[in-house]
Amino acid sequence: MKKAILRTSNLERNEELARITLNPKTMQILNIIIYERKLRFKCRRCATFCCRLGGPKLTRKDALCIAQGGYAREEFLIPFRKEWNSSSTFLGDLRSNEEGSCIFLKFNSDEGNYECSIYDSRPSLCKLYPFDFRNESPQSISLGLIPCCRGLNNPDGELVDEGYIMDSLFDPISDFILRHVLSTRNDVGEERAL
Ligand code: SF4
Ligand code: SF4
Repeated sequence: MKKAILRTSNLERNEELARITLNPKTMQILNIIIYERKLRFKCRRCATFCCRLGGPKLTRKDALCIAQGGYAREEFLIPFRKEWNSSSTFLGDLRSNEEGSCIFLKFNSDEGNYECSIYDSRPSLCKLYPFDFRNESPQSISLGLIPCCRGLNNPDGELVDEGYIMDSLFDPISDFILRHVLSTRNDVGEERAL
């Protein structure tokens, strides 16, 4: 992937943290503008708004990673029906328990909190949470927030700056871009092993 060119800006944009520009032909990241919001984030492990509301959509790579952890695909995946699946970036939904929480959310009685039991291979959308992104145009992606998360504005949290975005969010975002390119080219060889 071509090295991203970074620059910062003080522009005020409601809930927008960064804008990513892609090369329309190769979908490589050309440029990232990061808006300084002085926002801090540290997960409080409340599991109130994320994992308890069900698992996210899974990309093919997400499903492959979970399957490699020893789970049968039928155990964790509700596949989209083909006629409903307008975007082949996602394969289906992660299953939920009857009460609505993600099947991988487990209570740790030693710590007295809830934890993700597949943390190292958790889906890309989980790695991004509470951050989110949307396509502003085919060449432009806007990074934003899911504001109800209790870890936002946590005074003990890390500053969500250029370093945080590059270290914590860049890989999952790049993964989605890559999945989009691969899926639109029907280059899904690795997923056929699922
Ligand atoms: S990501 Fe947010 S909502 Fe989810 S457990 Fe952490 S603090 Fe709570
Ligand atoms: S996979 Fe893990 S992080 Fe993602 S929703 Fe389930 S429990 Fe939460």
